[in-house]
Amino acid sequence: MESKMRYNKVLDNLKIYEAGKPIELVVREYGVDEKDIIKLASNENPRGCSKLVQDAICKDVSKMNLYPDDSMYELKESIARRFDVGSKNVIIGAGSDQVISFGVHAKANKNNSVLMAKTTFAMYEIYARQTGTTILKTPSHQHNLGEFLDIYQKNSDISIIFLCLPNNPLGECLEKEKVYNFLDKIGSDTLVIVDGAYQEYAKYKDKKKEIEPKNIIEKYPNVLYLGTFSKAYGLGGMRCGYGIAQADMIKSLMKLRAPFNITTLSLKAAIVALNDEEFVQDCVKENFEQMLIYEKFAEELGFDFIDSYTNFITLEFKNGKNSGEISEKLLKKGIIVRNLGAYGMNAIRVTIGTPEQNVRFMREFKKIYLNDMEG
Ligand SMILES: *Cc1c(COP(=O)(O)O)cnc(C)c1O
Repeated sequence: MESKMRYNKVLDNLKIYEAGKPIELVVREYGVDEKDIIKLASNENPRGCSKLVQDAICKDVSKMNLYPDDSMYELKESIARRFDVGSKNVIIGAGSDQVISFGVHAKANKNNSVLMAKTTFAMYEIYARQTGTTILKTPSHQHNLGEFLDIYQKNSDISIIFLCLPNNPLGECLEKEKVYNFLDKIGSDTLVIVDGAYQEYAKYKDKKKEIEPKNIIEKYPNVLYLGTFSKAYGLGGMRCGYGIAQADMIKSLMKLRAPFNITTLSLKAAIVALNDEEFVQDCVKENFEQMLIYEKFAEELGFDFIDSYTNFITLEFKNGKNSGEISEKLLKKGIIVRNLGAYGMNAIRVTIGTPEQNVRFMREFKKIYLNDMEG
């Protein structure tokens, strides 16, 4: 029998989020041996996670029957200590993704609009569309605060502004002072979501780009700062992220949170991960050493890249090159990257891998790129 179900109209304009292709799919569809596949598509930490976290999880593995501490007291305390804020300023989500959805559902609706950069984290738009709100984007792919301000001043109904600092999928990052000057001009009823998913990388490369949640709490009651354990901490599979804001905002967002929204083991992993800062610093340091090799590689072969403050690099092509074809050919070699064709860019985003993975990427990429030139 045919389905007669009519879904809410907002679903008509929704796309299903297309995640980086999983390894299993490349094995199935391209017949590549699993051990030959390298995934440089989802900005995961190529070195895994801290050994301390692995040990703690093994030790606690029999506690799966227990619901987690729903107050998340210990994790909130640890995050609060790390950023020198209060635990009442912290909310935990199943990935910072979930905290984005809390923010969006708290403010956006069909009578207002939201503003974001033309090419930024896809989930902002997906969550926003669930509410029926109007999506506004800046003309430039990368963040341009002049454009943001211009659109903000011309549209009195903007309920949320998204700033991705640094920006995924392009890697650029605004300076802190410029961001604060911008925030000074935004009215108190507009929620500004400052997404710091890659802040561990940005602040290592350039202190001037470090957004400090403490400053935000002190000065901006309308700003929600986001952080995650999925990138530098290497815990993407554990689904744990956080939001930091003034206590009043956190209280409102808490109304949207389901109980036990992260698992007992995720909670444990995040708490222990915060105790191994050395692991994170090692990973971030190696990331930028490897990034330099990618930059030299791009210069050698003569294509552009965007100066990146993250754990990925965006490579841009011209003269007859096509990012879709390049990605597809890489895939056949078992190398998964992210094609940015859907954003109207002729570019791919490559997560910085381990030194061995990067060597292999460059070897295969070079063959494909140079062959294309001739053909
Ligand atoms: C990866 C990422 C997130 C969130 O990831 P979670 O795994 O849900 O914590 C948020 N914002 C940006 C820009 C990201 O790249």
